[in-house]
Amino acid sequence: MTQRLRIEGRGPVAAALRLFLARQGFASASIAHDAFAAPLPAAVAARPLALSLGSTHLLSRIVALPDAAPIRTVDVSLARRGGRTRFHAADLDSPTLGCVIRYADLHKALSDALQRIDTATPPPSPFPLHPSPLVGKADEILIRADGDPRSPSARTLDFHQSALLAEVLVSRDAPGVAFEHFTLQGPLALLPLPQPDRRAVVWCATPQQSERRAALSPHEFDAELLDAFGDALGTMRLAGERHAVPLQRRLALRDEDPRRVSIGNAAQALHPVAGQGLNLGLRDAFELAQELGAAHAQGTPLEDALARFRRRRRADRAATVGITDTLARLFGWPALAPIQSVAFDALDWVAPLRDRFAKALMFGLRST
Ligand SMILES: Cc1cc2nc3c(=O)[nH]c(=O)nc-3n(C[C@H](O)[C@H](O)[C@H](O)COP(=O)(O)OP(=O)(O)OC[C@H]3O[C@@H](n4cnc5c(N)ncnc54)[C@H](O)[C@@H]3O)c2cc1C
Repeated sequence: MTQRLRIEGRGPVAAALRLFLARQGFASASIAHDAFAAPLPAAVAARPLALSLGSTHLLSRIVALPDAAPIRTVDVSLARRGGRTRFHAADLDSPTLGCVIRYADLHKALSDALQRIDTATPPPSPFPLHPSPLVGKADEILIRADGDPRSPSARTLDFHQSALLAEVLVSRDAPGVAFEHFTLQGPLALLPLPQPDRRAVVWCATPQQSERRAALSPHEFDAELLDAFGDALGTMRLAGERHAVPLQRRLALRDEDPRRVSIGNAAQALHPVAGQGLNLGLRDAFELAQELGAAHAQGTPLEDALARFRRRRRADRAATVGITDTLARLFGWPALAPIQSVAFDALDWVAPLRDRFAKALMFGLRST
């Protein structure tokens, strides 16, 4: 029986999977995927994405990356508690640790690449694109990549935080340096953007604080940001819209049906503190395409490929979820302040430990 693939989702992980599958020899007509239906929601489009070096390598196989700001140093500090560590690409003999790209730009690049692999006037899909079938057809493999581990089958951890997204113009930029500043309310990241003197702000705090900050006048916002972050980038001036995004960690339960699998945020939606969600999702997409490609080439059932994929991804997923959950919660506990500073300084002094941590964030934990 010919087995067909159906992909649900319109985000970067679904698009990357389609492109990786094309490289594995799957024709567009053998995949049901409704990629181009609606415009991006504004709060999603505004998201800055720190891509690890591993992700840029994966993406370069399928797409010409649009403008991105290189990250050469990550500067991590604890607000008002002392403690600082820096990860340098040079310490790892690498030109960069990764780069920052806007979600909307990556989405457009992937959509353009998808359009190129589809024929100009695609033939009518042999598979009707009905929404979210609860049970796939017997000859169909269903891959969920729609960004949401659906309730009630999700293990949820509520951080009681929102991320406030904004962009600011700074008076003294530090090209190539990404800042992560842990405040007691949550992490505050100031990430480089492709445009000089412009930074993306991801400011995590209680939902009430984020809503309040989103409603401040630009002048008040600038002053509060300077107070929270300090003057490492000089003065900062709000440029554009602000969006508050609620934060929860959500993990899908294991798929019982052997013909279904979830990848990317549909499998695990993480706190953005370590910038790992998309990186993990791209590794999901790449490794799933590899397993499906091998099964396709050998003529073995695609269900077996899904089972191998689940086993192969277990270690990387568990470790990345664990690190991210820990970072999201650890630095919010005032009682641990003395340990936090010591731990940070220790990480700064013990180079092999720091480099191992940086490598795990750059490439993920390889399970093969
Ligand atoms: C504030 C914040 C900052 C983040 N920063 C980072 C980071 O620095 N590095 C990192 O690796 N990860 C980061 N992430 C996580 C990252 O955004 C997700 O892990 C990644 O986008 C998951 O991709 P996906 O395709 O699985 O799902 P999603 O990106 O969630 O895409 C699926 C969903 O997006 C929407 N969508 C997408 N395209 C369309 C379209 N064309 N039409 C309509 N709707 C659409 C739909 O709601 C859809 O269900 C961050 C997340 C947040 C919230």
